[in-house]
Amino acid sequence: MVLDLDETAIDNSGYEAGLVVNGANFNSKTWDAWTQAAQAQAIPGVVEFTKYADAKGVKVFYVSNRNADQKEATKRNLQALGFPMGGDVDALLLQHERPEWASRAKGARLAYIADRYRVLLLFGDNIGDFTDRYDGSVAERDKIFEALKAHFGHDWMMLAIRSTALGERGLRSQFKLSDDEKHAGSSASSSLGRPSRETGGRLRARTPNNRVRPEPFATGATPPRIANRVDHRSPRLAAALPRG
Ligand SMILES: [Mg+2]
Repeated sequence: MVLDLDETAIDNSGYEAGLVVNGANFNSKTWDAWTQAAQAQAIPGVVEFTKYADAKGVKVFYVSNRNADQKEATKRNLQALGFPMGGDVDALLLQHERPEWASRAKGARLAYIADRYRVLLLFGDNIGDFTDRYDGSVAERDKIFEALKAHFGHDWMMLAIRSTALGERGLRSQFKLSDDEKHAGSSASSSLGRPSRETGGRLRARTPNNRVRPEPFATGATPPRIANRVDHRSPRLAAALPRG
C-alpha cells in the first residue's frame, strides 16, 4: 500500500502554528528548516495501521513531494515515530530522487511501485495523491472526482485535509483572498497582531488592554523552536498558542 506523507501519515501542525504565530505564509525556506528538524508528529492511528500491514507482509510505501535533499531527515522523522521503513527496500519515494520523478505529479512514482507490487490501497489527503489530473480549475477537479469516485472508500482512502495552502488554493481561485483576508480568520493573529511597516516587520503582541508590546517571534523565525511549545494533537491549536 502507498501513503502520502504530509497531513496523511504525518502532522505538520507545528510548522503551521509557527506561521500563525509569525503572521507568515508558507515558504520553501521555513518549510525546509521544519523538515530538516524532523519534528513532525504521526497522524493518530497511522503508525499502528502501517505496522499491522507490515506485520502481515504488506509492503508500505510513502510517496511524497518532499524533495530528495529532505530524504535523510524525513526518514529519521518517520523512523523515530515507529513507521515501518521497508527493510531492504527503499520505501520512501520523494520528488527529484530520479530524473523521471521531477514532477509533483506522483504517477511516475506510483507506476514504479505498481511495476513491482500489486497495489492494494492508496492513502492521501489531496486529489494529487491519487491522480495526475489534479491541477485544473475547481470545476475540472469536481469532474475528475466524479469520474473516479468509485475508488474512494474502496481502494483509495482520503483523509480530509485540515491545513496547508493546497485546500485554500481552490478557494482563492474563486474568491481571490488577499493575505490580510486569509489571516483575518485566525484568533491568534488578531490577538497577537501582525508584522507591519509600523513594527518594522516584527510581530507585536497586544495585551488585553490593547497596548502593543514586543513579542519574541520575528517574521521568518524558524518554526521548529515554536513547535515545541504547542500541543500538536490539540484541535484547538489557536487557543493553545502562546499569548505571552
Ligand atoms: Mg499531503
